[in-house]
Amino acid sequence: MKKIWHIIALPVFVLLILFSIGCSGNKEDLKQIESLRKPVLDYQKKMLTPFLSTKAVDCHYDKHHLGYYEQLLSLISNTPLAHNDLREIIEKTKGDSKKVKIFNNAAQVYNHNLFWKSITPYKGGKLSPEMKQLIVNSFGSYERFTQLFVDACTSVFGSGWVWLIRQGTGIEIMTTSNADTPIAYGLEPIIVLDVWEHSYYLDYQHNRAAYAETFLAHWVNWDYAYRVLTQ
Ligand code: MN
Repeated sequence: MKKIWHIIALPVFVLLILFSIGCSGNKEDLKQIESLRKPVLDYQKKMLTPFLSTKAVDCHYDKHHLGYYEQLLSLISNTPLAHNDLREIIEKTKGDSKKVKIFNNAAQVYNHNLFWKSITPYKGGKLSPEMKQLIVNSFGSYERFTQLFVDACTSVFGSGWVWLIRQGTGIEIMTTSNADTPIAYGLEPIIVLDVWEHSYYLDYQHNRAAYAETFLAHWVNWDYAYRVLTQ
């Protein structure tokens, strides 16, 4: 009996270690936004008031986001892409003129999945000392960061997205147009703000800067950003 235990002790130990790494879970954040499961919100829609009205979130999430999701499913059903996750579909269809529709819908699902994660009704805008230091290291000061981020939001011509992406040991601001997404370029996004008119027009009309400022001041999910950055 003792002998058997000697033989199985090491494999059991290794399995336990692997299991605990698998469960420790930061990767879950990314898996969730890249999966083809039906998108869900982590909070009730009404909890985003007054940043976004329930009417605006109803329309944005139910009609736009789920609309892209349903379109994507119908476009890839019974094709080999049905077995891939969102990141793989985006990588396999980018730059393919015959698959623009699939790329656009997959990218829009991914972009919106991250967008709703980037917002939180629980202590939104609150910076941990670690996250604040990262911002200061990357941009010089928190004030300079907010200025650059809001400028980026107002500079997007037409529809698009404003991102924070990982850049070496720090973070950087990036903008994309229409459905385009940093993961098509192998970049690692951590936070995104939707600046399509459908995301802010009901609540802010033409004032995209006020929408971006309110997001940064009270709603951006820095805890999520830090989790993704440190995984
Ligand atoms: Mn949108």
